[in-house]
Amino acid sequence: VDARQGFIDRNPESLKLHGRASQFLPGGNTRTVLYYDPFPLTFVSGEGCRLEDADGHRYVDFLGEFTAGIFGHSDPVIRQAVVGAMGNGINLGGHGPLEARLADLVCSRFPSIERVRFANSGTEANLLAIALAKAFTRRDKILVFDGAYHGSLLTFGGGAGSPVNVPHHFVIAPFNGFEETQKLIRQQGDDLAAVLVEPMQGSAGCIPGDPEFLSMLRSETSATGSLLIFDEVMTSRLAAGGRQQQLDIRPDLTTLGKYIGGGMSFGAFGGRSDIMDLFDPARPGALPHAGTFNNNVLTMAAGVAALSEVYTPEAAQALNARGDALREALNRLFRETGLPFVATGLGSLIGLHPTPDTPNSPADLEACDPAIRELVFLDLLEDGVYLARRGLIALSLPIGDAEVDMFLDVMRARSTRWRD
Ligand code: PLP
Repeated sequence: VDARQGFIDRNPESLKLHGRASQFLPGGNTRTVLYYDPFPLTFVSGEGCRLEDADGHRYVDFLGEFTAGIFGHSDPVIRQAVVGAMGNGINLGGHGPLEARLADLVCSRFPSIERVRFANSGTEANLLAIALAKAFTRRDKILVFDGAYHGSLLTFGGGAGSPVNVPHHFVIAPFNGFEETQKLIRQQGDDLAAVLVEPMQGSAGCIPGDPEFLSMLRSETSATGSLLIFDEVMTSRLAAGGRQQQLDIRPDLTTLGKYIGGGMSFGAFGGRSDIMDLFDPARPGALPHAGTFNNNVLTMAAGVAALSEVYTPEAAQALNARGDALREALNRLFRETGLPFVATGLGSLIGLHPTPDTPNSPADLEACDPAIRELVFLDLLEDGVYLARRGLIALSLPIGDAEVDMFLDVMRARSTRWRD
C-alpha cells in the first residue's frame, strides 16, 4: 500500500497524462502489456540505456522495449541510416535495394532460412507461418504449448486460447512435457500441419525449452510429415544465428521480429525454399502475401545497419555473456540474502520470479504472488530501475558495468526488506 501511494505521489504529471489519454484510448492505452495499476508512467525521452518520464525522473532501462530495444535509444549508426533513408523518399510503392540486402543478412545468419519474407510484427509473421504450414501440408491442426505467446492473436496462457485468438484448430501441449507432447504429436499424425514453439518461452517467464524436448519435436515432426516452426521473435538475439544455432536444430520455418528491424516495426518468416516458394508470384496458384509496409525503407535501412554494423556476432556474444553473468550474480545474491527469488532465462534475457525454485514450465510459476511482483516493480521504479512488471529484463547494448553494478546494489539493499 505504501509503495503504491508513493508511486501516485511521485508521478502527478504521468497521472494527469493518463487521465487525458483515457478520454480517447480505452484505459489510456494502446498496448495492454504496458498498462499497470494505478496508472502507467508516461515516458518522454530516452538516450542510450536511460529513460526520462513526464515528471522528470530518470531510469536505467532494463526492459529494452520487451527485447526490440537491443540497441538502446537513438543508436547513432541506426539513426544515421534512418535519416539517410528518409532523405530518399519513404513510400516509393516499389521494391528497393535494401529489401534484398536485409534478406541476405537474415539468411546468412540463419542457415535454416533459405528464403524469407518481411511483415510488420512478430504476430503477423506467426500468422503467415501458420497459414503457410497449413497450405504446404494440406493439413489443419497446429500444436502449440501452454503458456506460449506468439502475438496478440496467438496467446495460450492458462491451458486455453485467448478469446481474441485467430480461429485455427489449435492443440495445446504442456511445455517441456516430453512424453505427453510426443504422444500428442503421434496421435494427431496426418492431421498435424505444424508444431509452433518458442525455444525459450519468453512471456511465460523466460523458461528455456529442454534441449532434448526441442530435439524430440524435430524428430517427431519429421516422422509425421508436419512442419517444425521455431518462434525466435525473442530468442533470435541469443546468438548471431539464434537459439537454433546454439541447439543445432534446423526448423522448417522460423519467425522473427523485435530487434532485427533495427528497432522499427518488423516481423519476418522464412525457412525451407520448397515451402517458402509457395509465395513466389510467378508460380501458378501462388499464395498471396501483401502488406503496404512489408518493405518500408525505414525498417529496411535500420535493419541493414543494425545487423551489419551494430548487433554483430561479436556484440551478440558479449551482450549474452553479460546477461549470463548478471543472472548468476542475482541468483548468488538471492541465496546469500535468503530471499526466495530466482532469476531464469538465457543470455541477455532474464526473468525475475518470487519463488525459490527454477521453473521448468509456466505451471511452476502459477503460485507466484502478483502482489510481490507489484511491490518489486514499484520499489525498483523508486530506485531508478525500469523493467517489465512481470519481471522481464532484456539487456541492451548501452548497458555497461556501471549499470549492472547499480542494479545489483539496488537489489542487495532491497532484498532484506522484501525478505522480511
Ligand atoms: N512471438 C514472441 C515469442 C514474442 O515474444 C512476441 C512479442 O513479444 C511476438 C511473437 C509478437 O511480436 P509483435 O509484438 O511484434 O507482434
